[in-house]
Amino acid sequence: MDFSLPEELRSFQRMVRRFVDTELIPLEHKEPRGLLPATRDRLRALTRDMGLWLLDVPQSLGGQGLSALGQSIFWEEFSRSVAILPRDFYIIGPFVGAVLVQLKGEQKERYLDPVIRGEKLPCFAQTEPDAGTDPASMRTRAVRDGDHYVINGVKRFITDAEKADFAQVMALTDPVKGARGGVSCFLVDMNTPGVKVTTRYQTMMGEAPCEVVFQDARVPATNLVGNEGDGFRLAQEWITLGRILRHGARACGVAERCLEMGASYAKQRVTFGAPLATRQSIQWMLADTYTELQAARHMVRYAAWKFDQGEDVRTESHIAKMYSVEMGFRAADRCLQIHGGIGLTTDFPVERFWRDQRAYLITEGAAEVMRMTVARHVLKYY
Ligand SMILES: Cc1cc2nc3c(=O)[nH]c(=O)nc-3n(C[C@H](O)[C@H](O)[C@H](O)COP(=O)(O)OP(=O)(O)OC[C@H]3O[C@@H](n4cnc5c(N)ncnc54)[C@H](O)[C@@H]3O)c2cc1C
Repeated sequence: MDFSLPEELRSFQRMVRRFVDTELIPLEHKEPRGLLPATRDRLRALTRDMGLWLLDVPQSLGGQGLSALGQSIFWEEFSRSVAILPRDFYIIGPFVGAVLVQLKGEQKERYLDPVIRGEKLPCFAQTEPDAGTDPASMRTRAVRDGDHYVINGVKRFITDAEKADFAQVMALTDPVKGARGGVSCFLVDMNTPGVKVTTRYQTMMGEAPCEVVFQDARVPATNLVGNEGDGFRLAQEWITLGRILRHGARACGVAERCLEMGASYAKQRVTFGAPLATRQSIQWMLADTYTELQAARHMVRYAAWKFDQGEDVRTESHIAKMYSVEMGFRAADRCLQIHGGIGLTTDFPVERFWRDQRAYLITEGAAEVMRMTVARHVLKYY
């Protein structure tokens, strides 16, 4: 068994780390309230030049076609900085995701290609006021009417809905079958009559997802993705890799930076006549974070590697998301404690890591629900 990364991924890792160290981390102090448009454009040009652009999109579609393992390396390194909002894809190329990448023919031309070219922005609409961690209880209906579907319902917490050109909407086409073949996925133009963005929710992590109301919105039947009943599977595919990469690997990057900052501060900060680093209680915080980071990193990389082998990684994605996000939150919490009052100041990245990691315990699968599904797996096999 070989645990080492292939040389091309190690050199890729060094390149991303250099980019984060030289370009992103200095911006945390220079532009702490968010990046200026000119800075964002400069970074975007840089990432394009460096090939850090559309990493997950197949080469046949103009992307880098990076393996999931490679992407896990990218997300870990990239997440060592809070200069960019976690879901700000402007700088690394539009987020395409597992649903759009499967489009063919006219759907591909009208929706996937313009997204890749940066001409259209998509959003993903699954969550509802009464169906978040339990999407199977969604109520949004899509009823066939001639060569259209008529959609009625409310979606909540939809990232980018206020500026999106179209939404990937999950809706019930067969309420009796529900999640077992009764949910379908539709491409819905946001300017369709009957589609309205109502509320924007400002959150502690800086994102402001929206509520979207569908009232007799008529969508051409040709905008159904795949077949009727494919929706739940497509949504799970959309979320699974995100749990490994944008939650799991990201948390590893947060923990890595928390170790860098925590160890450095503990060595220089003197209290009661000695550096914090000499105190056992502080050393144990660093030792625990370091140890837990090794475990999380192995889980994330294993899940990513298994995904690359074409295997089912639902359980691995739940394990990686659950453990890594909790680990990242503990790492940020300890780092905050080591920094004392300075850690609480909002110009300093630790409190941002802390807020973000806290939020990730809820989004794209709450910690309890991840445990519930892992427990199901355990009880089935033992
Ligand atoms: C910033 C942000 C962006 C988002 N972007 C999107 C998006 O683009 N598209 C989209 O579709 N959704 C999006 N979401 C929705 C997000 O995925 C949901 O908020 C999340 O799944 C939690 O759903 P909920 O808020 O309805 O919590 P609920 O389902 O009401 O759960 C509340 C809490 O109850 C607990 N819980 C739930 N079920 C169980 C159980 N069985 N056992 C024990 N405990 C349980 C958990 O602790 C959970 O946190 C976004 C949310 C946020 C905050």
